[in-house]
Amino acid sequence: MRKGNLLNIRDLSVEFHTDSGIVKAVNGMNISLNRKETLGLVGETGAGKTTTALSILNLVPDPPGIITSGTVEFEGEDLLKKKDKEMQKIRGSKISMIFQDPMTSLNPVMTIGEQIEEVYELHTDLSKKERHEKAGNMLEVVGIRRERINDYPHQLSGGMKQRIVIAMALACNPEIILADEPTTALDVTIQAQVLELMKDLKQKYDTSIIMITHDLGVIAEISDYVAVVYSGSVVEYGSTKQLFTDKKHPYTIGLFNSIPSLTGDVERLKVIPGMTPDPTDLPNGCRFHPRCEHCMERCKVEEPGVYEVEEGHSVKCFLFDEYKREENGDE
Ligand code: SF4
Repeated sequence: MRKGNLLNIRDLSVEFHTDSGIVKAVNGMNISLNRKETLGLVGETGAGKTTTALSILNLVPDPPGIITSGTVEFEGEDLLKKKDKEMQKIRGSKISMIFQDPMTSLNPVMTIGEQIEEVYELHTDLSKKERHEKAGNMLEVVGIRRERINDYPHQLSGGMKQRIVIAMALACNPEIILADEPTTALDVTIQAQVLELMKDLKQKYDTSIIMITHDLGVIAEISDYVAVVYSGSVVEYGSTKQLFTDKKHPYTIGLFNSIPSLTGDVERLKVIPGMTPDPTDLPNGCRFHPRCEHCMERCKVEEPGVYEVEEGHSVKCFLFDEYKREENGDE
């Protein structure tokens, strides 16, 4: 895995201790992010994508969550070692998060202006008047007239609400935005507008984005690099072009095959056989082996390493073990 110049997650593992057992949500996650880059984290529901994002912000609920291993190095420091007070300064100002459903992020009894102003209140020394002025500016940045500053969330459409959430996330010009399925709750045309807005704002503010999604269309639209996540770890990593033109891992190939084609008649969509593994009882060896048509004997007992198939393109699968094995943290 290459080393990013902004964020490096190494060997991150997170468990949740529940009444039904220990849920192994993240299992040896390795991710790197460079400045001004968008990394798409793609995978099925329950793959550990959101838990990874929450770990970056040190927001895994404890209990029941425990980060059992790993480091989250941001600007040279391990965020997992920071005290809560230090993290409060980083959250919202250096690293922000956009959640899937804007209604759960917005306070229904505060105006949208007050909610953007609150971000400045927490992270800057601006006066009330300056905060109000800046909140109006942010509304215009996300394409909403500043006269609407005294509106409440229920007076806005779903797309506008998500724009407000984006305005709040960008207010302090963070280094990284963690966008967790930010367009899933929106209809398709609004989805395209919000993605376009995020792309424009990324250029304007030089922000890096980690885009969490299960939608390969969103990945194609916005990402520079893609990490395919299965059962809590990255199974394939590469540039968007490498992933879309030369995917290697059987799981990635299955994901792409399950996209409906716009050309040609297809009676049934191809699906990946079987279900995502139960995180309280993960399979031994390669965690994809019960669903993999290429499964070999060693896949059932040994966990595959990460093999670099070409520069910047790595795969966690024994089918590629003739390639150079990567060491974590190496370029
Ligand atoms: Fe399939 Fe084996 Fe590769 Fe896992 S390591 S994806 S089971 S071939």
